[in-house]
This record gives sequence, structure tokens and C-alpha cells, in this order.
Amino acid sequence: ADAACTPLPVLGRDVLVPLVTGGEVTYAALDYAASAPALQRVWDDVAAYAPYYGSVHRGAGYLSQLSTELFEQSRQAVADFLNCREGDQVVFTRATTDSLNLLASALPEGTHVYVFETEHHASLLPWRARETTYLDAPRSPEQAVATLEEALHQAPKGPKLVCVTGASNVTGEIWPVRRLAEAAHRHGARIVLDAAQLAPHHPVDLRELGVDWVAFSGHKLYAPFGAGVLAGRADWLQRAEPYLAGGGASRKVARRADGGVDVEWQAGPARHEAGSPNVIGAYSIASACRALTEAGFDRLVARERELLGRLTAGLAEVPEVRVLSLFGDDADRVGVLSFVVDGWNSSHFAAALSAEYGIGVRDGLFCAHPLLRTLLGGEDDEPGECGAPEAAPGERSLNAIRVSFGAGTPDEHVERFVRAVR
Ligand code: PMP
Repeated sequence: ADAACTPLPVLGRDVLVPLVTGGEVTYAALDYAASAPALQRVWDDVAAYAPYYGSVHRGAGYLSQLSTELFEQSRQAVADFLNCREGDQVVFTRATTDSLNLLASALPEGTHVYVFETEHHASLLPWRARETTYLDAPRSPEQAVATLEEALHQAPKGPKLVCVTGASNVTGEIWPVRRLAEAAHRHGARIVLDAAQLAPHHPVDLRELGVDWVAFSGHKLYAPFGAGVLAGRADWLQRAEPYLAGGGASRKVARRADGGVDVEWQAGPARHEAGSPNVIGAYSIASACRALTEAGFDRLVARERELLGRLTAGLAEVPEVRVLSLFGDDADRVGVLSFVVDGWNSSHFAAALSAEYGIGVRDGLFCAHPLLRTLLGGEDDEPGECGAPEAAPGERSLNAIRVSFGAGTPDEHVERFVRAVR
């Protein structure tokens, strides 16, 4: 029980920030959904390896060989973390956005894509060059499955892909991924899971969830450095042109008699990893995967539930607060929650949390404009990308405030947040 109450050590715990009211306070990072602080353990692992890093798949020298070995071990660590199936492939990318764009570039000719309008722009937009059916926001997990079933029932022949987010970056609500995967497969479709928000909070087990691919970002999974993952079925990836053309993705390049250039592309993950691989990024993701597995998701989930309980109970005491939800009060959610406050512009509210309490949250439309419009109602007032239109104090907010936390969050941050909102 004690262990369940201990947050994992993360960087940035002792950072002091100035308050407008005078003095300083330790920064309360409650914006894990944007980027989580790195686990101390991951940072230590990276620091221990940093003096030794070298180019991957390139050099004959010892450090280059060591880095190649560690890069491939990192790939295996991620495969273990995801409980990959035989034949699955782990491709290192820059982040979730990159992973989903990579998959979009590898879809077979004529693929029809199905995606809920509630998705983050990273999982909503990469398919636009394809025939895409945008599904209306469901109001319960059951309705999500039924909506998908109905759409797939009328699906054209040919390859089909469903893209769904495991946990919403806005409401934190957990989607019925396994049931959606079963529905997709019943209709001969494949499914990719955007696990950017799910993976830091819940085990993502490819066999158990039954999804064909999963995408996530290291910087939300307590690993610093710009790396992400696309893992899953190899076949479509192997038949596709490389995502990026360049060194590393090419096995053989030769001038043709007519003066042009012929290329034989690599097989395996290297096909889509052109350029010098981000070995430190991959290594830090692998380290985070190991650290989370060792900490145990049972414990992490239990602790988050407790913090979430305190957070929702605290917010429920403030009548002006309206928590945003698609699935209603019984929905299971990760440590991500958005709300609006009557009489307040959300941007001003978030700015006050920062300036007066040293609390870092996010305000805006969270790169999920259609979802925010559904949740808040009203027309678009031309918000900036991921941003929010200005509303005068007292006017209805067209944007929201998001609070999010995770494995490193101490009780005090949630307590301070609730006090500040009150
Ligand atoms: N999907 C979801 C659900 C997200 O929350 C985010 C990040 N906010 C992304 C995709 C994109 O992740 P990244 O910015 O790391 O590419």
C-alpha cells in the first residue's frame, strides 16, 4: 500500500518558479499529456550511455558497434513492452505524428480509412489523401463500437484501415480498443492504435488488444529526446516505398545505362528509418519501457486512480467547473481531464494558475478542434493551430483547460491544483 502511494522520481521536481504574488514555489507540472517529465532512472541510463554513443549501422569502430547493438536491443525492449507478435516490426520514428504519417504513406492502393472525428489532429489528418470516412463522436464506448460496425458494414471492397486513439488527449477517456479491433477484423479491416496518451498510463499489449499497429511518443512516456515508435504488422510496411528516401533505407544504389539511378530498398525496419538513427532517443524509450514495467502498471494505475479521485472530487465542489466528457460520469479515464469554468476565459484561468500558484497546465483546443467543438458547442472562431480564440472575461469560453498527470506526480501537486481552482 505504501509503494502504491509513492510517485516515481522524475526530473524537474525541485524547479523553482517565481509567483506574481512574490516569492517562489516548486513547479507543479500538470501537463503530462503534452510532454511528461523524464524519469530520473531514464535520465541516469542515458547519462551512463551518452559518452559512448556513436553512429548506428555505420562504423567499424567499437562505439559504433556498441551503439548498433544498443539500438537493436532497444528495438527488442520496445517489442517486449508491447508484447509484439511473431513477425511484428518496431520502427523508430520521431514521435506519434511521424509514426501515423509513416503508416499513412504505406497504405496499399485504394485503402479506405475510418476515423472518429474525436481524434487528435495527428490521427485525424494523415489520411486525408485517401478515401476517408469520418465517424461522428460517440456518446458511450458501446456507441463507438456500434458506429464503427455500422460504417464497416457498408464498406467498399478492398483494404480498409481504422485509426483510433486509446485514451483521449482531451477527456482522458479510455476507448474500447479491443472491441473496436474485433469489429474491424470482423469486417476485414485493419486497425492502428494511437497510444500517445494510453501507453504512459496503461499496458499496451498488442496480443491482448488485437490491434495491427500501435504508435506512441517517447516524450509522453517519461523518455526525453525526439523519438517515437510505430510497431505492428510488417507486410504493408515492407511492400511500401520507404517513408524517407536516403541512406540506411537503401541496400544498393547504382547508375543505370540510361543515366538514371536504380535503388534496391532495405527490408525490415531500416526501410523506413532512413538517415542516421536517433540512437539516444531509441535507448531512452527502451529505458522508460523497462522502468515502467519494473514499477508495475498495477501500481501506477492504482496510484493514478487515487489522484484522479481526489481531483474529480475537488473539482466537483466548485459549481462553476464543468468537466468535459463524451462518455459520461462512469467513464474510465487516464490522468487527463479537461474542463471549463463559468465566467472565466480558459486562457486567463490557466495563466492565473501559472502566475499565482506555479502550476503548469494547458489551455486551448488541444489539437482536437472537431472534438472541442462537439464538447463545448458553438461555432469555430478561427482559433490558431492548437490555440484558442480570445473571449472577454465573463464570456463563454471557446477553449478549455486541461490538467494531466502521471507516474511522477506527488499528492501535493493535485492538492495545490484543487485549492487553486477553488
Ligand atoms: N495523439 C495524441 C492522442 C496526442 O495526445 C498527441 C500529442 N498531443 C499526439 C498524437 C501527437 O504526438 P507527438 O506530438 O508526440 O507527435
